[in-house]
Amino acid sequence: MSKTKTIGILTSGGDAPGMNAAIRAVTRCALSYDMKVLGIQRGYRGLLNGEINKMSARDVSDIIQRGGTVLQTARCKEFTTPEGVKRAADMASLYGMDTLVVIGGDGSFRGARDLSNSGVPVIGIPATIDNDIGCSDYTLGYDTAMNTAMDAIDKIRDTATSHERCNLIEVMGRSAGYIALNVAIASGAEKLLIPEKDFELDDIIRNIIDGRNRGKKHYILIVAEGIGGSTEMAKVIEEKTGMETRATILGHMQRGGSPSLRDRVMASRMGYHAVELINEGIGNRVVVFKNGVTTDIDINEALNTTKTIDEKALDMAARLSI
Ligand code: ADP
Repeated sequence: MSKTKTIGILTSGGDAPGMNAAIRAVTRCALSYDMKVLGIQRGYRGLLNGEINKMSARDVSDIIQRGGTVLQTARCKEFTTPEGVKRAADMASLYGMDTLVVIGGDGSFRGARDLSNSGVPVIGIPATIDNDIGCSDYTLGYDTAMNTAMDAIDKIRDTATSHERCNLIEVMGRSAGYIALNVAIASGAEKLLIPEKDFELDDIIRNIIDGRNRGKKHYILIVAEGIGGSTEMAKVIEEKTGMETRATILGHMQRGGSPSLRDRVMASRMGYHAVELINEGIGNRVVVFKNGVTTDIDINEALNTTKTIDEKALDMAARLSI
């Protein structure tokens, strides 16, 4: 008789709506194959500390609709050292883990790759609101975060119109402007500033004045977090245009909230795919969504893949904002 497979599961790095739906999918699919599931609290830190508990189907009841992660998440410095990785691999072995499922972003996958090099097979599930993982067209949390930002911007827009104000709205995206780009399109923003593109503040100021002269009642500027300095920029714009200008930093509200339908379905599909791989004895892969299908790639290859901003979408956003 073949040995019962044991899998570990953890969430790591920045949290994202949909992580719970992924935990549920992995747990229930694994149980359906008679695997044993070990939930690890607080990411790699919990693995090092042995914060490990057996999971049942009921342990993941009523979480598909909840934001955050019931397994908690953490950042762990010790795990980035060779000694830390060795200790984590020993802990995985002590608990008889045949495979570790890591739900997280780029940093978490680098950690997972190090663990795989220490002999622990891993499967990554991409979850980060920024969608900044090169190997996958989609990362869990992205859709929910964009909808949260869009809803907030719609509200700001109402008051910006009433008062004929200029509003700078900073959305998440430290090194990537994917959230900002889509949110700008969806909220009909006048201008978009993202880390991937240089800009001149004077051009924006001229644009605001031109827009006002053409009868625009407000000016919405979406700024990706990576640009920074939104408050100072708003002051300069107000001084130079004479138009009342406010900066709003949406911040962590974009990370929370109930996952959207897309995030719940994507999390379920990715979790299911992860367990299918494990069931076939395949490890060291990252589950990805590519060209409309859920598939997987080698973890080393995944970490070497980059993606670029959609230039056509940028062009469209600019043309629609006149
Ligand atoms: P995310 O997974 O959202 O990108 P982080 O970059 O904070 O989040 O990474 C989460 C955890 O993964 C870190 O606290 C650390 O333990 C581990 N990690 C991050 N980067 C590396 C790395 N280059 N090598 C090994 N482990 C890493």
